Amino acid sequence: MSLPSKLRFARRIIKHRLHHQPCVCPYCAGPSPLKLMKRKKFILDILGCEACGLIFRWPTESPEEADAYYQDEFSPKSPQISLPNTTELNKLLQRNFAATPLDLGPKIRLLKAICPSGRVLDYGCSWGYGTYQLAQCGFQATGFEISRPRAQYARKHLGLQVIDCFEELKASPRRSFDVIFSHHVLEHLPNLKDGLDLMARLLTDGGLTFHVLPNFTGKSAVSGMWLHWIGEEHPIAPTIDFFARNLPKHGFGQIRFASSPFDDALTNALLQNGTKALQTDGDELLLLASKVS
Ligand SMILES: [Zn+2]
Repeated sequence: MSLPSKLRFARRIIKHRLHHQPCVCPYCAGPSPLKLMKRKKFILDILGCEACGLIFRWPTESPEEADAYYQDEFSPKSPQISLPNTTELNKLLQRNFAATPLDLGPKIRLLKAICPSGRVLDYGCSWGYGTYQLAQCGFQATGFEISRPRAQYARKHLGLQVIDCFEELKASPRRSFDVIFSHHVLEHLPNLKDGLDLMARLLTDGGLTFHVLPNFTGKSAVSGMWLHWIGEEHPIAPTIDFFARNLPKHGFGQIRFASSPFDDALTNALLQNGTKALQTDGDELLLLASKVS
């Protein structure tokens, strides 16, 4: 994150404080008791909603600011966001992203062990590197990405099918997908409630959600990192507790949590243990849930 971007963020936050932006839980969206957990750098409040359990920051961006941020400003230097040129892309494709920060292989292999094939929606697919890897692994993969330049890149350079507008995704037929996959996306969603409702609508009965996100109550988080993980890039910090409390309201059941590393031991534990609790100390949380018919 460059300094000008940080300054722009601080300016937006201060402006909203001065204009008394209403302080409400972005999930409950109404009056619910809030607890101040921490004030960060004097201007940013980290709050916990006592009704739903969501941790979030206040002030937050307006919908227009959030849209502009994701179109233009969001982590432009990270490989998950910046668009590779032709040479860089060819190099990545030659090695199928292996041993790069864009390698989703271990996570996709784990998904495949649970669900060997089907129609997958890669929710928040950026420029398509994950959607591409899902397709390479035999899934019928579609991407969804609100940044139009990144969605366009995925179509043009990777030949992928990508939806770039929430309203268009909403208009897709019910039960269009067998799996909804997301990788470090849920913690960016300003309106998680609508997102979860839409995922439930788009999933076939018994369909699977497979979400990976920062583990806000894992070992590193609890030792203090969680405060660094909520801020400009992550407006919300949904935890195991939040999902366990709220996913059933959206029509999800068989909710399971696990965490990194995404290795054979985790795959075996998931396949063998039925409903036994798995370790959840790692830095990345895996959230699995099925759409209840
Ligand atoms: Zn709430």
